[in-house]
Amino acid sequence: MIIIGAGLAGLIAAHAWPRATITETSKSPIQNHKALLRFRSDSVSHATAIPFRRVTVRKGILHNGKFEQPSVRLANLYSRKVTGTLLDRSIWNIETAHRFIAPENFYERLLEQVGQRICWGEDFDFAKIGIYHPVPHVSTAPMPVAARALGEPINETFSRSKICVLRWRIEMRDADVYQTVYFPTPTHNMYRASITGNLLIAEFIGDAPTKDENGHWLSEMLMAFALEVGEIHELESTTQRYGKISPIDEQVRRSVVRRLSEERGIYSLGRFATWRNLLLDDVVQDITVIKRLMAADSYDGRIKSS
Ligand SMILES: Cc1cc2nc3c(=O)[nH]c(=O)nc-3n(C[C@H](O)[C@H](O)[C@H](O)COP(=O)(O)OP(=O)(O)OC[C@H]3O[C@@H](n4cnc5c(N)ncnc54)[C@H](O)[C@@H]3O)c2cc1C
Repeated sequence: MIIIGAGLAGLIAAHAWPRATITETSKSPIQNHKALLRFRSDSVSHATAIPFRRVTVRKGILHNGKFEQPSVRLANLYSRKVTGTLLDRSIWNIETAHRFIAPENFYERLLEQVGQRICWGEDFDFAKIGIYHPVPHVSTAPMPVAARALGEPINETFSRSKICVLRWRIEMRDADVYQTVYFPTPTHNMYRASITGNLLIAEFIGDAPTKDENGHWLSEMLMAFALEVGEIHELESTTQRYGKISPIDEQVRRSVVRRLSEERGIYSLGRFATWRNLLLDDVVQDITVIKRLMAADSYDGRIKSS
């Protein structure tokens, strides 16, 4: 069993297949996900044996200096900002919710548990896999990369936008809240900011904001959370190449996933591999489905060869 990719989906999968080898293009560990990370359930915690914390999350929408309720106009402004088009986005739901939070060193702990099985700096060549491979592969590599295994171009545009993430520590004694504010305004590129405990995370569509743009988004964010500039300490700024993905034709999407497993023995897992906006809770469910498919496929294979 080979798992392709040591991002979060690959590392979760490595727990489900404890004897699998993991191949990863990066030469050394690199945390791809620095944006907000919350879970709907504790399924990932169970799958990895890493304890999560159940918290209450409060949400709001800040527009023109005021907190507003969701509306068609604000939802469309927000959607245009993050996707460039009109799609239903999470801004419609600002109900208080219960979520699960992983420890801040979640990625490092996953690595500690499965790290010895990872072959760093190994770029899996999908174009070379040829006909059906006897060793099953679970791929978390982006769909347009894995689709090379099919040997023919896919007639779809896989459009994605990069995002930039800035993080600060809130230097206030015992700060411990879970909050998200959406910013639909088109006048700057920060679309969402969140507090997880005492960690403040702002997400920007596209590139990092330049210093002279600071005034606008920074003052909106501080105002939203009732914070002063001297109370936050900047930790880091990172860019995620695969940030927001735009949907592709559903029939094409399903057909690529199905053909990769049926014709090449490559089972797609995760947000970019299956090209759908899933959360990591869904990855745990998909692992169960893949295990069932693998068992059925190997049974079919045995029947055929006998
Ligand atoms: C802004 C944002 C917010 C999100 N919020 C949440 C949230 O709150 N909760 C949640 O559960 N999820 C959330 N998600 C989703 C979650 O972040 C992603 O599902 C997850 O990080 C993607 O991990 P992955 O392992 O599927 O992909 P990746 O992190 O992209 O990992 C794939 C790996 O495969 C490697 N690779 C690619 N090609 C090859 C090759 N040919 N050979 C070998 N290796 C290869 C890459 O180098 C990479 O390391 C969010 C996503 C975004 C963008």
